[in-house]
Amino acid sequence: MSKVKINEEKIDKLAHLAVKRGVGLQKGQNLLITAPLESLPLVRKIAEHAYKEGAHIVTPLFTDSDITLSRFKYAPHESFDNSTDWLFKGMGEAFDTNTARMAIAGDDPMLLSEMDPEKVSRANKAMAKAYKPARERITEFKINWNIVSWPGKAWAKRVFPKLDTDEAVVKLADAIFDASRASVDDPVKAWDDHNEKLRIKTNWLNDQNFAALQYNGPNTNLRVGLADEHEWMGGASKAQNGIICNPNIPSEEVFTTPHAHKVDGTVVSTKPLSYQGTLIENIKVTFKDGKIIEASASKGEEVLHKVLKSDEGASRIGEVALVPHSSPISQSGIIFYNTLFDENAASHIALGQCYSKCFKGELDLSPEEISKRGGNSSMIHIDWMIGSNDIDVDGIDQNGNIVPVFRKGEWAK
Ligand code: ZN
Ligand code: ZN
Repeated sequence: MSKVKINEEKIDKLAHLAVKRGVGLQKGQNLLITAPLESLPLVRKIAEHAYKEGAHIVTPLFTDSDITLSRFKYAPHESFDNSTDWLFKGMGEAFDTNTARMAIAGDDPMLLSEMDPEKVSRANKAMAKAYKPARERITEFKINWNIVSWPGKAWAKRVFPKLDTDEAVVKLADAIFDASRASVDDPVKAWDDHNEKLRIKTNWLNDQNFAALQYNGPNTNLRVGLADEHEWMGGASKAQNGIICNPNIPSEEVFTTPHAHKVDGTVVSTKPLSYQGTLIENIKVTFKDGKIIEASASKGEEVLHKVLKSDEGASRIGEVALVPHSSPISQSGIIFYNTLFDENAASHIALGQCYSKCFKGELDLSPEEISKRGGNSSMIHIDWMIGSNDIDVDGIDQNGNIVPVFRKGEWAK
């Protein structure tokens, strides 16, 4: 395809890992893969491993950044409130018949930054609306799914601007393989060990059953109430179809559902947030009764304000996640400009939709029941980083006792 030489053995290992432990593909399942065209070598390997595992039909859906840019440059103005509703309806249907889902991340995170922000915002809104049938089944965890990454050229240049393109791609490839634990001899075994460590943390947090978490640090004084009967999750988890998967590769977080109406105080972002082509930096928000009543950013503030107005739930949070500062991604010192990686470098919260799976019991909770327990609903879900080695986190138990959870960005115990 190109002169770029990415280690082929590692591509194969990542593909195998993604099929075996990522999506956890079962014999007889169909597999839908959305991917940038550049990631074709990885997608081919994934398809090979999927068929070897007994997949029935593997369907790749490719996008291409030049074609995406052509739309924003040349498509008629009135077209930007439209989306491919038919496609996302079809995805919803596929998931209803037990098709597993994989997504390959690899596009330039700033792809749309030079395009007309009004068109981008309208297109994003239309897309978020149309994507609902697919998104709901993913957030409700109806089927096993997984995201892995590919070092796209433009993304690699964004992360390593001083290197020439080929070098940047190879360097980003290595960073992806390392962060994904795909560089080791036996990635599948490495993930079994990693999942076990995360399970010990989630078990402890679930035993504690905290009412709230209190964050203290520079410019941060935030109390996050947790949803009633919330459950902490992390690493491998079981989808409603009974299949165990690791939705994100890499993943270092343990996470749960906060109470959409019990978040108070002020918090600042500790890393830039790359949101659909715009970099939003130095976010500072103040919550009252769960709602953001004040929000500023040193860069991308206009986009942030638009995001917060997406819908009723966009100014409340739907996820709270703990990640130690010593996580390999944080230690790599690389800013990936990609949430999949950057969210695993630091503790974070997410605006918008909650994961309905983060509640006790194997229940298929109705939206009403989720909302009664404090789970937020929205058409967006945007993670942003609030953790660093300056942040302490305390758990406040149901009797008001304070239990140290994080000290200076690390697990307190
Ligand atoms: Zn998260
Ligand atoms: Zn999230």
